[in-house]
Order: sequence, then C-alpha cells, then structure tokens
Amino acid sequence: MQASLFLAAFDPLHEVPRVCALCGTKAPVFNYEFRTYGEGGSLSEDRGFCCANSASNLVKQLERNEAQVWVQAKTAVKAEDADVNAVHAQRLGAFPRRN
Ligand SMILES: [Zn+2]
Repeated sequence: MQASLFLAAFDPLHEVPRVCALCGTKAPVFNYEFRTYGEGGSLSEDRGFCCANSASNLVKQLERNEAQVWVQAKTAVKAEDADVNAVHAQRLGAFPRRN
C-alpha cells in the first residue's frame, strides 16, 4: 500500500467544523484523509477538516514521504547488486531538488 492524500469538499450545512484540525486557526475548506508509512512500514493515518494552507502542507509532506520511499527503493536495488541508474534517473526527474 502506498502513502495517500485525499482532499474533498464538504457540506457546510451538515458538517460544521469551525477551525482547521491541523493549524487550528483558519476556517477549513477541505475534508482530508492522509496516510503515510514509516520506515518500518507502520501506517500513520489522519483525517479531518483543513484549510487551504494546511492542505498545501499535506501535499509537501506526502512529497517528502514519497522521496524517502524512493531512497529506500534505490537502496534495496543497490543491495541486490542491480543497476540503480534507472531508479536514480527516475527519482531525479520526480524530485529534482534532492539527489
Ligand atoms: Zn490550517
């Protein structure tokens, strides 16, 4: 299973959260479900209502989590003594700020 982030609108007439569950300051605009997996494969799951800025932070957090997964995949390929060039090139294309 992969890390995931789902964002959706919500019905303000029936679901009435007053503040963002993540920053606790702004009015929420999305309903979210966020799942990440730690290095040991443990699942971390969070859900609630968040503001647009916090939703953007969740996307960045998902990107960091995915970049870490790709590092682990590259390490696993290297441990199998296989060619890591394809994995490395794909990772640089997806995450150009990291090497
Ligand atoms: Zn927020």
